[in-house]
Amino acid sequence: QAKSQGRNTYRYYTESLTRAANARLSLESRLRRALEREELVLHYQPQVDMRTSRVTGVEALVRWEDPDAGLIPPDRFIPLAEETGLIIPLGAWVLASACRQLQAWIEAGAPPLTLAVNLSSHQFAQPDLAMHIGHELQLTGLPPELLELELTESTLMQHDRRGMETLEALRALGIALSIDDFGTGYSSLAYLKQLPIDKLKIDKSFVQGIPEDRNDAEIAATIIAMARNLNLRVLAEGVETEAQRDFLRRAGCDAYQGYLFSRPLPGAAFARQYLR
Ligand code: C2E
Ligand code: MG
Ligand code: MG
Ligand code: MG
Repeated sequence: QAKSQGRNTYRYYTESLTRAANARLSLESRLRRALEREELVLHYQPQVDMRTSRVTGVEALVRWEDPDAGLIPPDRFIPLAEETGLIIPLGAWVLASACRQLQAWIEAGAPPLTLAVNLSSHQFAQPDLAMHIGHELQLTGLPPELLELELTESTLMQHDRRGMETLEALRALGIALSIDDFGTGYSSLAYLKQLPIDKLKIDKSFVQGIPEDRNDAEIAATIIAMARNLNLRVLAEGVETEAQRDFLRRAGCDAYQGYLFSRPLPGAAFARQYLR
């Protein structure tokens, strides 16, 4: 009795494992196909200067437009792409498309906004990353000074030594570097000081509680003070209310991004609203 029950449990376990593996496999092959069929799209979220309230930059954020499932957010497929290595062609597509889009806007008369693109850990580990990006910039004609790459603290920590060489090589091309989701990792001041970076992006989890949550407000203010001491620019992400924006502005934050100003928009809508 106990033995057969054990066997049933075992069978149940392997069946559910198989189901999970199949679901994952189909997601993977669907994503692979989506990449080939160009079913990925970029949305663009404005980055706003705190003092002038003008749009000075834009972050490209990928979405998957599945014919059946609709618009799938990146949190649902970037981790899988990262695990399977698909992130390399996917990331290359994002970079090329975003650079091409910004260059097209500029050629059509838009002001020279900066373009922020997210880089995953796997992409950052590629030894020829800087060369590839340099080539892409040449192809599109986008000035390297307008490109900004976003890396998380954990990505930076994972690739300590060779990562530094990649950062230097990107910097040498004229590209700006920022740390995304700042405050959620474990970067020490000593570590930060050595990195050739230009900007910190305060993670939205700290912005959310401002101004009522004293801890969140204190952490955000501390990050801003730290950035200023290190001569880094600082942008707050996930700003949804005027109270949050006003607090951050008073604390000395340079720029913000968030639903208060605008959600990420499809390219055409972004151009219509912000590039005239
Ligand atoms: P992230 O780079 O930290 O991007 C910020 C996320 O916050 C975006 O989610 C954005 O839509 C969302 N957001 C913006 N303003 C607000 C706000 O006021 N309130 C709230 N609650 N959220 C706001 P999204 O587009 O779903 O992207 C999620 C994450 O997926 C990104 O976080 C980034 O880590 C990753 N991701 C997106 N596109 C790419 C990409 O092209 N390549 C890679 N490697 N990762 C990407
Ligand atoms: Mg980002
Ligand atoms: Mg972020
Ligand atoms: Mg994030």
